[in-house]
Order: sequence, then structure tokens, then C-alpha cells
Amino acid sequence: MTKNAEDTIGEKTDLQPNECSKPVRNTEKPVQKYRLTVQIAFALLCVWIGVEFHLFVRFLDSGGTTTFVSRPPGAEGFLPISSLMSLYYFFQTGEIHTAHPAGLFILAAILIMSLVFGKVFCSWLCPIGFVSEALGDLGDKIFKRRLRLPGGLDWPLRFVKYLLLGFFVYVIFFVMTELALRTFLDSPYNLTADIKMYYFFAEITPFALTVIVGLVLLSIPIRGFWCRYLCPYGALLGILSLLSPQKLKRNTTSCIDCGKCAKVCPSFIKVDNINTVWSDECTSCMACVDACPVANTLVIESLIARRRVTKRLVAVATVGIFVIITGAAMLTGHWQNNITTQQYLEQQLYVRGYGHPISGSEMEKLGRPQIDDEKQ
Ligand code: SF4
Ligand code: SF4
Repeated sequence: MTKNAEDTIGEKTDLQPNECSKPVRNTEKPVQKYRLTVQIAFALLCVWIGVEFHLFVRFLDSGGTTTFVSRPPGAEGFLPISSLMSLYYFFQTGEIHTAHPAGLFILAAILIMSLVFGKVFCSWLCPIGFVSEALGDLGDKIFKRRLRLPGGLDWPLRFVKYLLLGFFVYVIFFVMTELALRTFLDSPYNLTADIKMYYFFAEITPFALTVIVGLVLLSIPIRGFWCRYLCPYGALLGILSLLSPQKLKRNTTSCIDCGKCAKVCPSFIKVDNINTVWSDECTSCMACVDACPVANTLVIESLIARRRVTKRLVAVATVGIFVIITGAAMLTGHWQNNITTQQYLEQQLYVRGYGHPISGSEMEKLGRPQIDDEKQ
């Protein structure tokens, strides 16, 4: 270890070296400010999409008499179930379903970045993750410390998101036939799913509003309540993140056991006690890497290349994967769907009446009328 007066750690509390030599100060630039910037930018993009979508629906509601505003395809990023079905349809048929192609590409980008860098989407891009984090920070300020549910409650609750994911995976991948899948994707319900989602929030019921307010309030004392316990999307990304070859590693030789990494971890991972982080809850936020006071002690390492991956590379590549995949969709003509404005105006007359199948058997039945017709 090289010793330099300015490079060594001076604070008494940090000085608990395992070796005789003084530990070298971690001078690598933190990335949390960049992360916050990316989170804000992405949240603003979502707000802009929301405003544009509102104007589009207003145009439809007017029967096409107000100024035309085109539908922003990015809204399909908020249709994860439909996108998952489109992905399965793509695997089955090799075709990109034309109802919500942007949703499919957004989902693909998120899945790929999770396979490469873990749950980076949750901590860098997801607007709900961003709001959830802000509420958790507010809770830290109010309660003057980071509260956490007791293990006996935390563990079973963390399982809930996997149950929700399991339900969707079971229905989509095991219950629905290819015909049922196609029937659902072609159904008026799916074609107008983004508009129905808009009405869900624009004309929110007292019950739904109470649930959302409850989740917001719970997220203040219980950091990441939605993300940690309920989000099935996060559950899927958590499973994929375990396959990611990029892992957070602690150098036990240079570690001074200060515990700063574990203290800042929003996922309550005991980073200071483990050599390699293999956790479905790690969001690759890199707060622990930034907080570690000793150089080259907490690093992201590629298990394949056996090389260190810089924080900057993770940040740039995360945004890059998203931009490249969604950009490819735009350049290849797979961003906009093929529903015409006239078709939207016609559907608008019935959109409030479209209900969605709510059980596995109803999903299964989607494919049956055609099967029965064929038999007759
Ligand atoms: S282990 Fe580190 S990178 Fe993972 S969630 Fe905790 S602070 Fe973020
Ligand atoms: S790895 Fe964690 S415990 Fe070890 S020096 Fe870094 S912050 Fe402190």
C-alpha cells in the first residue's frame, strides 16, 4: 500500500486498519449526484409523457375536435404486464406485436440492463423508485435514523412481491395458450390499455386513492415499502440481477470495518459483513461504494473478466443501454404502434366499458371461442 500524507485517512473513527500500514483514502469521485440527476431527468421525462398523453386523451374525448396531440409511445413503459405478454409472444412467434411495441422495447432494455448490471433500473431510472427514495430520505430526517421492520415481518413481506410476480408468470407462461395470448394482445382492452390506465389515475376511485396514499405514507417510515415488499417488476429484476456477472466485492484485507457501507445501504444489506453481494435487494445504487473511505476496498468486479468495473462505466452503460435499445426501436420503425387516430377515436366510444380478465381461467378462456368456432 502506498503511503502519502494526503492520501491516508486521517479521521480517528476511520482508523481501524487490519494491517500496520495506514489505509489509503478513497478519492474516487462519488456518483450519487449523477444518479440523482439521472433520476430527476427520467422523472421529468415521465411527467412530460404524462402531460402529452393527457392532451392526447383530451383530443379523443372531444371526438377529435380539439387540437390534435399525438400519443407518446413512451406511455407504454407503464404497461409492464402487456409488455411481458408481448415479450412472450415475440419468443413464441418471432414477431413484434404491433399494439404496444415501445413497451416491449422498454421492457427489453430494462431486462438487459438488469442482466448486465443488476437492479440498476430501480435506483437509476425508475420514477417510482425515485419517489420512494425521496420519501425514505424524508423519513430519515423525521425520525433522525433509518427505521427498519423487524426481521420476522421483513422476510415474509419481501416474499409478497414474488407471489405477485409468480401469479403473472403462471398465467402468462403456463395458462395462456398461444391463441389466448394473441387474442388478448389483439383485444380492444389491450389496444386501449394505456388509455384505461390514464382514466384509472384521472378518475381515481376513493378506494384506489386511499391505497396509494397509504403506500406513500408507509414509505416514509419504512424505506422503499412498495419496492421492497410489493413491486413484481422489482421482483423480476431482482431474480435477473442474481445472474449479472458484475458483483459488488469487499476487500477484506483493506477493509477497516467502519460499517459505513452498511449504514448507507437503502436495502439494509450488511455489506460490511460479506465478501460478495449476492442479494436480490441490491439495486446497484453504489451508495456503499461512494461511502467506503478506503481506496479499492469496495469495488464492482466482473466475475467473467475478473476486472474491476468503474462506477462511471456502470452509470454510462445503464443509460446507454436504455438509449440504444429504445433508439433502435425508433430507427427501425418499431416505436409507434399501428393504431390510427381514426381507430382510437372509434375505440374511445367504448373504452370505459372494456374490462380485463381477472383470473387465470378467464385468461385461458380468451382463446376458447375461436377454438370452439373452428370445431363447429
Ligand atoms: S449493497 Fe451497495 S449498491 Fe447494493 S443497494 Fe446497498 S448501497 Fe446500493
Ligand atoms: S467495505 Fe464497508 S466496512 Fe469496509 S472500509 Fe469500506 S465502508 Fe468500511
